[in-house]
Amino acid sequence: AKMRSKKNIFLPHLVASMEEVQETYIMVKPDGLQRGLVGEIISRFEKKGFKLTGLKLFQCPKQLAEEHYKDLKAKPFFPKLIEYITSGPVVCMAWEGVGVVASARKLIGVTNPLQAEPGTIRGDLAVQTGRNVVHGSDSPENGKREIALWFTEDEICQWTPAQAPWLRE
Ligand code: ADP
Repeated sequence: AKMRSKKNIFLPHLVASMEEVQETYIMVKPDGLQRGLVGEIISRFEKKGFKLTGLKLFQCPKQLAEEHYKDLKAKPFFPKLIEYITSGPVVCMAWEGVGVVASARKLIGVTNPLQAEPGTIRGDLAVQTGRNVVHGSDSPENGKREIALWFTEDEICQWTPAQAPWLRE
């Protein structure tokens, strides 16, 4: 579905992932939407210089929430997590950029908002793990998996931002 720089396909595996064009799934959780933080959260990634390739408001069905968080199925908080994610609409986003997966996790901050650094989304805007306003993929593989899970192929748009030559030499 996505265009990828041909160059990257041939990069040796030793090249740090921070040098690759990646995609990541970012989601404003229902609390972020209810609290009026959608614009603020989108803005953090937009201002940083990443490229938005998918965006929609969506009421997540239980089955999709369970698939998205399947690695956490055994956790005691799993039922509450599914209830939380399906409690209202979420804002689904696909973002693309060099090193975007790790960088987005840094912009988001650690899982517990009280421990998240000021300046991060969770550090600035949230107080509890169970209401931490935003999701970001934790690996390039999960970025791909989650975008495929939340978006259909025709919902992902490829475009060239006018600012591209002012972001990377
Ligand atoms: P992250 O979202 O930072 O990658 P995890 O993958 O560990 O964190 O957990 C996924 C989500 O599950 C968290 O963002 C949070 O909403 C919820 N969660 C994690 N741990 C807890 C917990 N101890 N209590 C309640 N909810 C939790």
